[in-house]
Amino acid sequence: MLAASLIPTEVSGVGVLNAAFEAVVDGLRSSVLGFARPEDPQAFHVPPVISRALLERLGYVDAFPNLLGTLHTFVGDNRRWRAVQAARLADGAPWHSDQTISDVVALPATCYHLYPLVASQTLAQAVTMTAEASCYRHEGSSELGRLRSFRMREIVRIGGPDDVPAWRDEWLARARTWFEGLGLTVSVEVATDPFFGDAARMMAPPQRQEELKWELKADLGTGRAQAIASANYHKDHFGGLFGIQTDGDVAHTACAAFGLERIVLALIAVHGAAPERWPASVRGALGFGGADR
Ligand code: AMP
Ligand code: ZN
Repeated sequence: MLAASLIPTEVSGVGVLNAAFEAVVDGLRSSVLGFARPEDPQAFHVPPVISRALLERLGYVDAFPNLLGTLHTFVGDNRRWRAVQAARLADGAPWHSDQTISDVVALPATCYHLYPLVASQTLAQAVTMTAEASCYRHEGSSELGRLRSFRMREIVRIGGPDDVPAWRDEWLARARTWFEGLGLTVSVEVATDPFFGDAARMMAPPQRQEELKWELKADLGTGRAQAIASANYHKDHFGGLFGIQTDGDVAHTACAAFGLERIVLALIAVHGAAPERWPASVRGALGFGGADR
């Protein structure tokens, strides 16, 4: 088997994955869903773009404008556009001056597609949903594992104010045990999101004090631990915005997010780039069976 590798492209944070890397992603995907089994989450396929107006309403654009990738389209039909651009270029004007912003943006986290699915509903019992998406964040650094395009598997819980934090705690414990079973040394830390501008002043301190965001961190071989998974408790923030109710109360929500490429990089850092030489217990957990050499 080939060494698992993330092959850089000409732009930072955007890599091509070879088949060996992707085989580990496949193993992780079934393994995560395996340990989600008792709850039987409803599974969805979600697209890599999402409504710009929705993220504006949710406050994402104010909190993380530096991370959001917007999409632009060229105005006009192709032949007319080429003629206009040719004239512009001849004048020395920027080639992209004829663009307009689209009504979709690059999806920054998988779970934003899931809360709207139960908008305006009163839930008779807690709901668990899962999806995986290609996410985009306009990251500034090219550190290993700090990708701009990466996949995030998320499990979302929507329920009452007692149920949801208990679910979050259980997920943190389960995820830690799962990572340790894969031979990874993880630290579990209270964290804050990288809020921008005023949001950093207003949102980060309560997020830390109330322990709303937890990260499971591992060294990807850079000497600095990075989050390979996180659990976020949003209290009634999304329940309120989407009009979701449980038993007469505004629903609470939490999500558990797994960064698939980062987990593979953490595995490579510990066990090497040749998955066929990984310990049998790790191969077993990923559904690889015996060594194939
Ligand atoms: P967050 O919404 O920031 O908690 O991210 C959820 C998970 O996605 C993190 O725990 C990481 O595993 C993964 N992740 C976040 N940002 C990146 C990135 N720039 N590159 C790769 N993985 C990421
Ligand atoms: Zn989420």
